[in-house]
Amino acid sequence: KPLIFSGVQPTGNLHLGNYLGALRKFVAMQDKMDCIYCVVDLHSITAQLVHSDLKSQTRQITAAYLASGIDPVKHIVFNQSAVPQHSELAWIFNCVARIGWMNRMTQFKDKAGKDRENASLGLLAYPSLMAADILVYRATHVPVGEDQKQHLELTRDIAMKFNLDFGDAIRRGGQGVDITVGEQPVHAYFPMVEPMIEGPAPRVMSLKDGSKKMSKSDPSDLSRINLTDDTEAVVRKIRKAKTDPDALPSEVKGLEGRAEADNLVGIYAALSDKTKAEVLQEFGGQQFSVFKPALAELAVTVLAPINAEMRRLIDDPAHIDAVLKDGSERAGAIAEKTMNGVRDIIGLL
Ligand code: ATP
Ligand code: MG
Repeated sequence: KPLIFSGVQPTGNLHLGNYLGALRKFVAMQDKMDCIYCVVDLHSITAQLVHSDLKSQTRQITAAYLASGIDPVKHIVFNQSAVPQHSELAWIFNCVARIGWMNRMTQFKDKAGKDRENASLGLLAYPSLMAADILVYRATHVPVGEDQKQHLELTRDIAMKFNLDFGDAIRRGGQGVDITVGEQPVHAYFPMVEPMIEGPAPRVMSLKDGSKKMSKSDPSDLSRINLTDDTEAVVRKIRKAKTDPDALPSEVKGLEGRAEADNLVGIYAALSDKTKAEVLQEFGGQQFSVFKPALAELAVTVLAPINAEMRRLIDDPAHIDAVLKDGSERAGAIAEKTMNGVRDIIGLL
């Protein structure tokens, strides 16, 4: 049965990239499938263990989920650390995955920087925990931004290796299903997850550098539009966004080699539920002095109600904590079922 899982780290202010790449898709999937949405607090300590306000950040992401329109009664909203089965399965996956697989991850290379020997072991093992997050529910579909594509391929590799390594035990336990991967028949305990990345802005770029993705952890606040920014801040950041001096092209191929222009057009398209081609039909030939104010107005229209609802929710931390507690209990019940099978398959007594 199809099941959605995805998560966001409580590493700082949510931004437009998180909204377009993740939250908005989370909301859209709710009517079609069962969904589990997680605040991945254990992931957020891989880059920096000591957080002054991890608890409030966790509540803030939860508030953003709810403010965006996720229904925590029909679906499940919880924080990762409250379901210890994530960590248990991650450990087992650390023994399934190979160091070489982790070393090839571009997110690890980016986040570890030059001093790789000094990065935490957790940062290296990040994708293994992410695979556990998804597979502990045996989720089949994962809505994410384009930056997470490589991690989802690794999740498939881990699932495949587990299924093959333990094929006989899975058969004996009687909990597997027959699937084909490519041409290969596999008796699987874990499904092959499908990434859901498509859309006009699968990778929203920094407003200051068209070659870098918009990130919570970017030191420059001008590089991103936060979901908590007020109208004045949104307008100012878009006005100051880096661009080239040319007018907008009238066709999509005219955006080639113009990373900043491409990014702003992509954002406009995503926010207005149009394609980039449709946006350029409207704005082709116009200068950024015309396009930027239109974009700012659109961004404010979409974000202001979410912003207001987030503020309202943040004022009631007890309500947020109750949502997380309820979600954790329901998630934990599913996760424990999966782990019972895993322990048996591996031979843990
Ligand atoms: P950090 O810099 O701490 O890694 P982040 O902004 O990358 O923060 P995450 O919590 O790592 O946010 O990612 C949450 C979700 O948002 C993921 O699905 C990720 O793919 C998506 N996402 C993050 N940045 C972007 C972006 N610039 N464009 C589209 N999607 C994004
Ligand atoms: Mg990230």
